[in-house]
Amino acid sequence: MSTDPAADLPFYYGSISRSEAEQHLKLAGMADGLFLLRRCIRSLGGYVLSFVFNLEFYHYSIEKQLNGTYCIIGGKAHCGPAELCEFYSNDPDGLECALRKPCLRSLDTPIRPGIFDSLRDNLLREYVKQNWNLEGEAMEQAIISQAPQLEKLVATTAHEQMPWYHGKIPRQEGERRLYCGAQPDGKFLLRERDQLGTFALSMMYGKTVYHYQILQDKSGKYSIPEGHKFDTVWQLVEYLKMKRDGLVTVLGEACVNSQAAEKAPSLPATRRSGTNGYTPPPRASVESSNSTDSPLCEDSEGQGMDSNPYHNPNEVKKFNIQRNLLLIDELELGSGNFGCVKKGILNTKAGQIDVAIKVLKSDNEKLVKEEMMREAEIMYQLNNLYIVRMLGLCNAENLMLVMEMASAGPLNKFLSSKKDSISVANITLLMHQVSMGMKYLEEKNFVHRDLAARNVLLVNQKFAKISDFGLSKALGADDNYYKARTAGKWPLKWYAPECIKFRKFSSKSDVWSFGITMWEAFSYGGKPYKKMKGPEVMHFIEDGNRMECPAACPENVYTLMKECWTYSHEDRPDFKKVEKSMKSHHQSMLKQSGGAAAAAEPVK
Ligand code: ADP
Ligand code: MG
Repeated sequence: MSTDPAADLPFYYGSISRSEAEQHLKLAGMADGLFLLRRCIRSLGGYVLSFVFNLEFYHYSIEKQLNGTYCIIGGKAHCGPAELCEFYSNDPDGLECALRKPCLRSLDTPIRPGIFDSLRDNLLREYVKQNWNLEGEAMEQAIISQAPQLEKLVATTAHEQMPWYHGKIPRQEGERRLYCGAQPDGKFLLRERDQLGTFALSMMYGKTVYHYQILQDKSGKYSIPEGHKFDTVWQLVEYLKMKRDGLVTVLGEACVNSQAAEKAPSLPATRRSGTNGYTPPPRASVESSNSTDSPLCEDSEGQGMDSNPYHNPNEVKKFNIQRNLLLIDELELGSGNFGCVKKGILNTKAGQIDVAIKVLKSDNEKLVKEEMMREAEIMYQLNNLYIVRMLGLCNAENLMLVMEMASAGPLNKFLSSKKDSISVANITLLMHQVSMGMKYLEEKNFVHRDLAARNVLLVNQKFAKISDFGLSKALGADDNYYKARTAGKWPLKWYAPECIKFRKFSSKSDVWSFGITMWEAFSYGGKPYKKMKGPEVMHFIEDGNRMECPAACPENVYTLMKECWTYSHEDRPDFKKVEKSMKSHHQSMLKQSGGAAAAAEPVK
């Protein structure tokens, strides 16, 4: 599965830079429509199409989408890079000209591998093995069905495997390591800062160490201040080896982390020096020396990379699934007011995929249709392993929302039917996955508003996904809550006090619902506040009462549950904290049971 789908193309060069691409095109004569394909170093699994028109170079990035298709952003989707290039050979479809003549690789120019290529397979297998406890055929299946998201997940931690990554060390220790041995300009290392998850780049220049903070934006992309943005840290580093992008100089030799091999525990962090402890990025006048320093340092890779001949990338058109590609089974997986959810099969060029199809009742009025479109709009923006993925919309005999299949069904039903065979460690694993999905939603500024065990679906016993975005909302950039205009048919028992009293919804109110979902899970699908009605529950909470610890639930897990039910949303933990806590509970359970015992649990 790891073979590069472009590997057989004679005009594919692998991970070469923009200026190298231009060099090849120059040598091949600069005819209109002369083109080549290369790996995109900024987006995962993507390519760049470089071609010539009117003696000018054009570079269009080709994105790999979650359903495995490839497209120039906003353009038609194609099942592979070869098909895409063939399409644009026949029809410019918005490009400056059609692709006419491939710029062929010479025999002495092998495809240049990217640094992630050699790591990817091992990282994927390692992840699936550790997290879902799958082996053999089941592992291969999981890797195939979850490939796009899995790849993204492992790629985001791939820097940890790199020789220049030094883990969590203080700034001073970073300096000490850089000053050890030779001190050439550009010698660098990457370290984690004491706040979890943020990084800093330390590099040598003129025998002085400079530190640059690595920023992460809301969508998770990494950059140095005012620099270009990348999906992952290692892509950023690879880029900075070619372009300064605001650094004093390009990155050179890696300062190798000699302790990495022994997996030394990270050194204690010293007092943080704050952002003003960072050297402001000096923008020395290196422009003139660029072309002599390195052939890779011409213009910015970013310019033109975002070229987009299509105007409205957000058109619903791109959600479309043709009816003839969809086989709908009679089997109903579930139903609701909107209609029902059916099993089905989606034909893609890459093969058939099992899908779940939310079918809108045909007598439904416009309003309900719009609701489903909104649900699709939200789901389309989400890309996380622990969230049910939307594959598209099909507007035929009914309006249909096509999603990936989570065949083991809702968590509450699953647990209540398997009370004797599922361990508490297994439930903890599943709830940790839910917390990872929710942390992602929180980072993306989405509120779910209907998190409950019935809306957590299982792919198998060890793999959960959050679903049902029917009530979800995207928050504005500056908002931290959503205010509902009227109270609707709400799942009151899952709602935090501020939702019921003020109709205010935020990630913090989702945390409350997560607590209820935890209670359901550790009660093996029990019904929360059993005999009470919605309004009674409100009084019960207002009086300071909370549900009791489920029989099977460890005390420390119950403590987290109660924290999720902190009355004031300001004092309630966020998902970042909840996820961290779930992770440590799960890890300590694995340790207690000796790891091996837990790993030997039955897998469906
Ligand atoms: P509602 O808004 O009515 O709660 P849901 O999205 O929760 O709609 O779907 C209703 C039921 O359909 C779920 O409880 C589940 O049994 C089934 N279902 C929904 N999506 C999927 C899916 N992706 N895979 C498998 N079953 C699903
Ligand atoms: Mg539901």
